[in-house]
Amino acid sequence: MEPYNAADAIQDLQYFGEYGGVNPSISDSSTYTFLSAKTMFDTFEGNTEGCYLYSRHSSPSNLYLGEALAALEGTESANVTGSGMGAITAVILQLCSSGDHLVSSRTIYGGTYAFLKNFLSRFNISVSFVDITDTRAVARAVTKKTRMIYCESVSNPLLEVADIPTLAGIANEHRIPLVVDNTFAPLSLSPARLGAHIVVHSLTKFINGSSDAVAGAVCASSEFCLALKDVNDGAGMLLGSTLDSIRAASILKNLRTLHLRIKKHSENAGYLASRFREAGLRVVYPGLDSHPGHALMQSQMNTEFGYGGILTLDAGSAEKADELMELMQRENLGYLAVSLGFYKTLFSAPGSSTSSEIPESEQREMGLGSGLIRFSIGLDHDIERTFERMFDCIQWLDITSQVPTAG
Ligand code: PLP
Repeated sequence: MEPYNAADAIQDLQYFGEYGGVNPSISDSSTYTFLSAKTMFDTFEGNTEGCYLYSRHSSPSNLYLGEALAALEGTESANVTGSGMGAITAVILQLCSSGDHLVSSRTIYGGTYAFLKNFLSRFNISVSFVDITDTRAVARAVTKKTRMIYCESVSNPLLEVADIPTLAGIANEHRIPLVVDNTFAPLSLSPARLGAHIVVHSLTKFINGSSDAVAGAVCASSEFCLALKDVNDGAGMLLGSTLDSIRAASILKNLRTLHLRIKKHSENAGYLASRFREAGLRVVYPGLDSHPGHALMQSQMNTEFGYGGILTLDAGSAEKADELMELMQRENLGYLAVSLGFYKTLFSAPGSSTSSEIPESEQREMGLGSGLIRFSIGLDHDIERTFERMFDCIQWLDITSQVPTAG
């Protein structure tokens, strides 16, 4: 598969503001006037391209951001939403009805897991959770009632790498879409170019990158994006997870530096992962050759953007993990906070935070230990200095001797 140059595709977009500004003007309106009542009716019927009706349906600012995200993922179109969950839930409810079934990776963001496991059962939609790295198990789980296969390109928090071409092949065989959440690997992986039919994002993370906004996106065919916006039965339009125009405009501005940020996040995470491994710590990072998905990631990735900014470190126990995170925060090495993609390193223990929706027994079964810390590595200028200071904290708490095996 040819690598996709998403950074160039974004760079090649050209916008002018209303008065020739270098940024598009922000559409600060929730509703739009029509010169004729007939045009208003036609717009409701979906027959007047380019006419704006009401900003929950669409707005110029959201369309600009959508265009840039379609360029990022190499899809025909993209809709932006008020959160990543707003994108994920709209896609699932657009594709699945009562009596349907879907196959999902078992290692996914806790909120998505909770929606699939606890919420969809209210609508009589069933879910089979599978080990996504076992593509034969995925194929076996598909039934006549299956409406989609769902996974994360690089999973939260275990960093499992999905074999997108093989999963897309299974989906194609059954004429169902493969839906991939690419929140952990924007630019590094281009799932749609590898065969995925729908790509979703939490823009809240790397894409916006400044931890000041909550937003999401669905990147897909124009047909699917328009269907989501249909005034009569579009899940995007009717569930109402709309992004505000002012936020859309600010996210678009941040998106322009994504290529620089992702390279630096990857470089810093790669450096720390290697040093942690050399020190005998239990670190997981797709860029390490000890990672079971390393070769697969290499075969799918857009190499120049690296293996991403997320790594995990096992502190051995929940108590040690808490002590380490509190100490690192006191030492100003990052923040004890959920989320990802900030300029500063963020760390949290997924077992008691972002994956707490997953019952403990299932967490253990999938390999999510209570001492696991997820790090979203920041844009630190001097990462060697960061390593020395982090390692001082690790040694101070005697974590090295707790988990002596490298892996
Ligand atoms: N997908 C992944 C992989 C996530 O990590 C998250 C949030 O942590 C989401 C989706 C949900 O995104 P949001 O918080 O923007 O709704």
